[in-house]
Amino acid sequence: MRANVSSHDLKVSDHKHHLHPFTDHGALEIDERRVITRADGVWLWDTDGNRMLDGMAGLWCVNVGHGRQEIVEAVRAQMSELSYYNTFFKTTHPPVIELSSVLADLAPDNINMVMYAGSGSEANDTILRLVRTYWALQGQPAKKVVISRKNAYHGSTLAGASLGGMGPMHSQGGLPIPDIHHIDQPYWFGEGMMTGMSEDEFGLWAARELDRAIETIGEENVAAFIAEPIQGAGGVIVPPSTYWPEVKRILERRDILFISDEVICGFGRTGEWFGSGYYDLKPDLMTIAKGLTSGYLPMGGVLVSDEIAEVLHRKGVEFFHGYTYSGHPACCAAALTNLAIIKREGLIARVRDHIGPYFQKRWKALEDHPLVGEARMIGLFGALELVPDENKLMKRFDNVGNAGIITRDHSLRNGLVMRAVRDSLIISPPLSITEEEVDHLVATARKTLDDAWEDIRRQRLA
Ligand SMILES: *Cc1c(COP(=O)(O)O)cnc(C)c1O
Repeated sequence: MRANVSSHDLKVSDHKHHLHPFTDHGALEIDERRVITRADGVWLWDTDGNRMLDGMAGLWCVNVGHGRQEIVEAVRAQMSELSYYNTFFKTTHPPVIELSSVLADLAPDNINMVMYAGSGSEANDTILRLVRTYWALQGQPAKKVVISRKNAYHGSTLAGASLGGMGPMHSQGGLPIPDIHHIDQPYWFGEGMMTGMSEDEFGLWAARELDRAIETIGEENVAAFIAEPIQGAGGVIVPPSTYWPEVKRILERRDILFISDEVICGFGRTGEWFGSGYYDLKPDLMTIAKGLTSGYLPMGGVLVSDEIAEVLHRKGVEFFHGYTYSGHPACCAAALTNLAIIKREGLIARVRDHIGPYFQKRWKALEDHPLVGEARMIGLFGALELVPDENKLMKRFDNVGNAGIITRDHSLRNGLVMRAVRDSLIISPPLSITEEEVDHLVATARKTLDDAWEDIRRQRLA
């Protein structure tokens, strides 16, 4: 396809006609964009002849790695048998039946039903309507408020962005929508360290923010608490070890639902099937997407507890909600094959026991670099917090985001895709990454830090 079109011409055409997500178009030079044409395993190729290590697994989603022909074949076979049919009017089809049962097996014991969506954002839209509908059906229509956290990411739709706690997203389009309340996040390096509390104390304090919010809003008005077990897009924020046990205690005492947004944490990222499993949490609802299909086709969903499903199964009750592509057969085929690969190759145990610890040890070693204030990693996702002064751990860069972008750009030039969040770098590679590829990744990250450190000092940012 388009073999005769030059790399530059492709970029010009992209510049003219393509509005990109989350992009400052005025600042994006035509030739700065990368045109990715091919991917295999953890590797990407672009039209300028570069090979890059995909340290972000696409966008946190390609858990089994790129180029799995087995998934391509399964989708092809499904498409030729039944490319599309809906699941609305008393109809269903074999792939959606099979996938639902597979997901019910993987989910915690009290969760046995799935409602499908096209993405994580759509799934969280479903959840917002679902929790309010659930309480209304229970005779408590006042229970509408959903408590979330600042700097959470739950998607880009109206409900997703409102549930999320991203300031810049709220500043556009009149968000958040009503009855969503954001409490502080358990971000030790970014916010806790400066409070004078110990890490453990800060974890307890942040957890008790939930209890204080419920008290202020009134338990009779609160529908649910939504959280990512580990915040992904917010910067791979691993909470202090006291945080989740305390939140769990609070949730046990309070009559509200708990929504675990597993869009990144799910399907092996933490070395367990779900992030809530990693922290031994008991969600009523779980948001899934990304790793569900490893991004081969778009799909999201909501895992629903028996308690909620039972209310929805009452005679005369109908949840007026659904998407044309809910449970799309080709996406189900992609998900089924993807999950079969994760199981057959033991990718979850591999992350927990082998490649996870192997990577974590080498990642942690980057902390000796003068530019790095903290290197953290759980399972196979982590962050490097960049600081301007190795001797002053609490010191931060003046223009937040600058050092992050400079370092990220060096990383791309060095052939490693990492993402910048404020002044940190994020990594989340395919779960299939090998030891040699981890060694290559860490060596490239170290070279990147050296290059960036030089650049940052030359520009007198540190
Ligand atoms: C990516 C993400 C979403 C949104 O998923 P989309 O498929 O992009 O709509 C929701 N929650 C979390 C935690 C995510 O990382």
